[in-house]
Amino acid sequence: MRHGRTIVGIAAGMALLAVGPALATPKPRPKPHHHHRHEAPPPPSPEDLEFAAFVKVFRGTALAAGILPSTYDTAMSGISRNTKIAALTQAQPEFVRPIWSYLDSAVSARRIADGQAALASQLGVLPSIESKYGVPREILVAIWGIETDYGQALGSFNLFEALATLAYSGPRSDFGRSELLSALRLVQQENLDPKQMPASWAGAIGQLQMLPSTYLKSAVDGDGDGKRDLFHSAPDALASAAAEVSSDGWQRGHGWGYEVRLPANFAFETADGETLKSIGDWNALGVRTADGTPLPANAESAVIYLPAGASGPAFLAFGNFKVILKYNNAVSYALAVCTLADQIAGRRGVVAAWPREEQPLSHDERISLQTALLKLGFSPGAIDGVIGRGVRAALRSYQKARGLAADGFATEALLARLLTEVKDKGL
Ligand code: CA
Repeated sequence: MRHGRTIVGIAAGMALLAVGPALATPKPRPKPHHHHRHEAPPPPSPEDLEFAAFVKVFRGTALAAGILPSTYDTAMSGISRNTKIAALTQAQPEFVRPIWSYLDSAVSARRIADGQAALASQLGVLPSIESKYGVPREILVAIWGIETDYGQALGSFNLFEALATLAYSGPRSDFGRSELLSALRLVQQENLDPKQMPASWAGAIGQLQMLPSTYLKSAVDGDGDGKRDLFHSAPDALASAAAEVSSDGWQRGHGWGYEVRLPANFAFETADGETLKSIGDWNALGVRTADGTPLPANAESAVIYLPAGASGPAFLAFGNFKVILKYNNAVSYALAVCTLADQIAGRRGVVAAWPREEQPLSHDERISLQTALLKLGFSPGAIDGVIGRGVRAALRSYQKARGLAADGFATEALLARLLTEVKDKGL
């Protein structure tokens, strides 16, 4: 989902279970329950009353912002507070899905084959989009595939119901209100039918799962019919992805990077996705291609990612990988796009094995890990159960201080070691 980070924070290297509306198959809306004549409908809850009041009051806000009464009334008719969304907003993931599990579904054999077929079916427009924006066609098709399975999975919620449910109260209220106004503007500007705008629970829409505000700002007309229709037009979706990736800084003619092998004695703390070195320097440190050959010459400097620690695959990444991260700030997402693109184009996928035996830490275990790091004098930041950049940096410092491979990857074994040390020191 474009700008998914505004809804659910995503730890780099790990994908939340909630990530990727593309992975969710749209479900038909439940049929209304038929009450028998003698049964009275349940009375509205206080939340339902609050919601109805919001829809009424927000009409004034929308009209003051230039929304026509008919637009508002059509879009907001027949919607109600969606209890499923209210629950999803408050959901805290108990387990964070391991990156290999996310990639298994995001870059499945079926997804690759469908991507090759999708690329072939769009050959009428892809060459011109590619030459205009300088972004390779397989990257565009891969983004399209990850976001909505090539336009197949647009979400199962009513956009206006989803945004109004987020908007009427709760922590996403400001976000919901501002996106609701954008959605209403979108209906007017692009002459869209508000009853034909399916969305994810978080309000992402169209074949690229953009938020309405992003759609308004960045979507382009790829098929030249004068309308930016990311719901029905694949060329509009592909051109919009190209425009976005290009404006995020994609360098024409450059790749994203490739899988590498690291030597056993490698200083793993430099494989943090941030330490930038020249190809010559990485070569001198013993970094090799997945085939074991020296890294091919390249004038551009690169970083290395170890998304599953020292025992998993390593990736050398250039600036274009960071561009995909700007598109959606999760290493798992960017790797899915880039490795799917490679395979759609007939190049090979990830060679090294993922450490599939590692179990994801539970929320309580992630809290224990952070607490133990803090007690041992390695500041992990807020004790919030989220393994983010700060926690990985603290873990690397701890690992380095104890002579371990400093990959910053949280495992059950590492947690056990930390807890033993805390206990032995009486902390
Ligand atoms: Ca169009």
